[in-house]
Amino acid sequence: MTRQRITLIGGGLVGALLAQLLARRGFAVEVFEKRPDPRRAGFVGGRSINLALAERGLQALRTAGLAEDVLERAVMMRGRMVHPLEGASGLQRYGVDDSEVIWSVSRGGLNMLLLDAAEAAGVTLHFGQSLVSADLDAKRIVLADESGTQRSHDASVLIGADGAGSALRAAMDDYQPLGARVEPLGHGYKELEIPPATGAERFAIEPHALHIWPRGGYMCIALPNTEGSFTVTLFLPAHGPHPSFDTLPDSRAAGAFFREDFPDLLPLIPHFAEDYDSHPVGTLSTLYLDRWHIDGRALLIGDAAHAIVPFHGQGMNCGFEDTVVLADLLAESRRDTADAFAEFQRIRQPNANAIAAMALENYIEMRDSVADPHYLAKRELGAR
Ligand code: FAD
Repeated sequence: MTRQRITLIGGGLVGALLAQLLARRGFAVEVFEKRPDPRRAGFVGGRSINLALAERGLQALRTAGLAEDVLERAVMMRGRMVHPLEGASGLQRYGVDDSEVIWSVSRGGLNMLLLDAAEAAGVTLHFGQSLVSADLDAKRIVLADESGTQRSHDASVLIGADGAGSALRAAMDDYQPLGARVEPLGHGYKELEIPPATGAERFAIEPHALHIWPRGGYMCIALPNTEGSFTVTLFLPAHGPHPSFDTLPDSRAAGAFFREDFPDLLPLIPHFAEDYDSHPVGTLSTLYLDRWHIDGRALLIGDAAHAIVPFHGQGMNCGFEDTVVLADLLAESRRDTADAFAEFQRIRQPNANAIAAMALENYIEMRDSVADPHYLAKRELGAR
C-alpha cells in the first residue's frame, strides 16, 4: 500500500514537530517553508528570540522523543522574579521544588533541532518555497522560490502551519469563508538584550527566573539564554498618550523613560540605543476562526488556526499539543482525513479559546504584579 502523502506549509516550530510525528506514523510528509534553511543560512528571526516551554509543550516533545535533547539546551526558570520600581526584588516560585518549573529555549535552536528530527524521520523539507495560492478543487498549490519564480505542485491533503499570517488560511477563506476575527491587543513589543556578564558569573541577574518589571499599564520581562544573555521584551501601548510607542519613537525618548521607570534595568542593557533604534515594534493580536478546515482537503494548526497574545507563554506550547492530537487522529482515521480534521477542531478549539482568554487576562496580572503573588505565580505555571 502506498503511504498517504501530506503536504505541510510552514516548517516553523509547529510545522517541524508535526512533520516528524506524522512521518513516524508512516505518512509521506513534505514541508514547504518560506525561509531559507536555518541550519545553513542562520536563523532568520523576526519574533521572540527565546520562549517559555512548559509542561504541555514538553509532553508533546516527550511523545516525539525529543524532550531530553531540548532540555539540554534550555535554562530552567523556577518562578517569576518581580522587580518593583521601589523596594527589593523577590522570587515567586512556581512550585515547592524543581518538579514545577518552566524552561527558556531559543526559538532558532529549537526550530533547527525539530527540523533535524523531521529530516531524520524521513520528511522531505523544501526551503525558500513560499505558498502563493491553493486550488482546493484541483488539489494543486502554487509555490514561489526566493527569486519569485512560481511553480505548481500537487497537494491533495494540505496542513497550514504557516503562522499568524497564514497564506493557506487566506486561500481557504477565499474558497469557503472561515469566519475569521482578528482582535488587535493595541499593545506592541520591542526586544532588547542584556549581554552575558564578564566576571566569574555568566549571568548579570538571577538566571533561573522569568524576570518581570511590572509598571501598571506596561512592563518589561526578561528570559535567560544558555550563553548568559537575557532577551528583554518591553510591552507598551502601541499608540496614544505617554507612554506608548508613539511617544517613544527613538532611543533618546525611550532612554529617558527607562531612566525613570526601569532604573535598575537600563544599566544592564549597554547597547540600549542600538537595540531600541534597530529592532522593530511587533504587533500582537488574537485570532479566532469558526472553521479550521475544509473537509479533508485542508486544515490549519498552531498560530495559523489560533494565534494568541504571548502573556501566558502558551502559543507554541498549545501548538505543540495540537500536533500530538492531530497525528494520533490522522493515524487512527487512516484515509478519512475529513473525519480526523473535524475531530481535531472539536477537541482543540475549546482549549485554544480558553488559553486565548487566559493569555489576555494574564497581561493585566503581569503588568500589575501582584495582589497575591503566590496565587498568580501558580496560575502562570498551571497554564504554562
Ligand atoms: P510560526 O512560528 O509563525 O511559524 C510559521 C512558519 O511558516 C515560519 O517558519 C514561516 O517562515 C513559515 N511561513 C509563513 N508563511 C509561509 C508561506 N506563505 N509559505 C511557506 N511557509 C510560510 N509561545 C510560547 O509557547 N511561549 C512563549 O514564551 C512565547 N513567547 C512569545 C513571545 C512573543 C513576543 C511572541 C510574538 C510570541 C510568543 N509565543 C510564545 C508564541 C509562539 O511564538 C507561537 O505560538 C509559535 O511560534 C507558533 O508556531 P507556528 O509554527 O504555528 O508559527
